[in-house]
Amino acid sequence: MKNFHDDLHPEIRDAVRALCAEFPDEYHRRIDEQRAYPEEFVAALTKAGWMAALIPQEYGGSGLGLVEASIIMEEINRSGGNSGACHGQMYNMGTLLRHGSPEQKERYLPAIAAGELRLQSMGVTEPSTGTDTTKIKTTAVRQGDRYVINGQKVWISRIQHSDLMILLARTTPLAEVQRKSEGMSIFLVDLREATGKGMEVRPIANMVNHETNELFFENLEIPAENLIGAEGRGFKYILDGLNAERALIAAECIGDGYWFIERATRYASERRVFDRPIGQNQGVQFPIAQSHIEVEAANLMRYRACELFDAGKPCGAEANMAKYLAAKASWEAGEACLQTHGGFGFACEYDIERKFRETRLYQVAPISTNLILSFVAEHVLGLPRSF
Ligand SMILES: Cc1cc2nc3c(=O)[nH]c(=O)nc-3n(C[C@H](O)[C@H](O)[C@H](O)COP(=O)(O)OP(=O)(O)OC[C@H]3O[C@@H](n4cnc5c(N)ncnc54)[C@H](O)[C@@H]3O)c2cc1C
Repeated sequence: MKNFHDDLHPEIRDAVRALCAEFPDEYHRRIDEQRAYPEEFVAALTKAGWMAALIPQEYGGSGLGLVEASIIMEEINRSGGNSGACHGQMYNMGTLLRHGSPEQKERYLPAIAAGELRLQSMGVTEPSTGTDTTKIKTTAVRQGDRYVINGQKVWISRIQHSDLMILLARTTPLAEVQRKSEGMSIFLVDLREATGKGMEVRPIANMVNHETNELFFENLEIPAENLIGAEGRGFKYILDGLNAERALIAAECIGDGYWFIERATRYASERRVFDRPIGQNQGVQFPIAQSHIEVEAANLMRYRACELFDAGKPCGAEANMAKYLAAKASWEAGEACLQTHGGFGFACEYDIERKFRETRLYQVAPISTNLILSFVAEHVLGLPRSF
């Protein structure tokens, strides 16, 4: 099946598709069943340089833009894989690139580009504050040449498969700042040094095979030089990176959407009931056609967001709308695909139930649908602020 944008960067698509073809459905299914991490798959992506796509060439990366990075993520999901195992490196990179000091970039980026270090984790969410990020309770207190971290995080992904994490913590109490978005800072935490020495990791069993954890900090000491950018500006830095994250997640959903539509179309053409292919019934055809229309439409917004981002232009509205449309379209495509397969959609060997669970996540994380609607209502339409 050929889609609107398949002619864009065919060299990247073909190369990523060829790599993904070495990891067929059976591989991803086994990893899901074992609740394991796709080590070999991520290692192959890293070795081929795809995980360093956004790192500038001077640091050993390929210096590509968000359009290209999003195509890599799309193709992984379109092949039947799940970018959730490794997409953190794509969007965490931007935070280090934009706000890190020359010394930090020199120290970490070449090693990340070479695949010696992984920057896959970002610790923002907390159990008692949820989406209301400015109320986070994790604190970082400067003591000489160190910061001492205390607090708790939840849903922090890929900790067990990353060497580094970007951590958001309060450096000035909420009561002492003029604006609630001030007084938070971001730090690069070396997970190899922190785990068991002030940071405890408790895995969270969840619906998807997504390695995610609770983190507990008790007097974790990190060198003051690991502060990224200026103290107190961390929330703004994190927000800067979110548009890239939203556009990349949109691309993953587009990949899922095409996967569902392709599977549904094939099965509807092959499966015969009442002496004819089920796809001859319009009741079966129409949900698949509808999903195709919606995925293609969402894809236009995804490219619009990526292109604006790469041009250095504001893209908050487009990135949020792309994520909203794509997550909705992929979920509806999953629903159409499952329904088309009847009982067989529930059999693990068809992979549909796995992809169905995987794509559902994106209406909640990294930002929930309601929060996108709230952003558009307030910042695009100028409706009164709700919170
Ligand atoms: C598998 C997984 C992986 C994750 N990985 C990471 C990670 O690596 N790093 C990280 O920092 N976080 C991570 N998260 C956290 C994720 O970003 C949050 O779950 C998400 O932002 C929603 O926050 P919450 O779960 O606290 O929901 P809550 O904030 O408690 O919200 C619950 C529901 O209420 C709705 N709601 C809340 N307030 C309003 C309002 N004012 N108006 C309308 N609706 C509202 C929300 O939309 C949501 O549907 C992950 C989550 C999951 C499930």
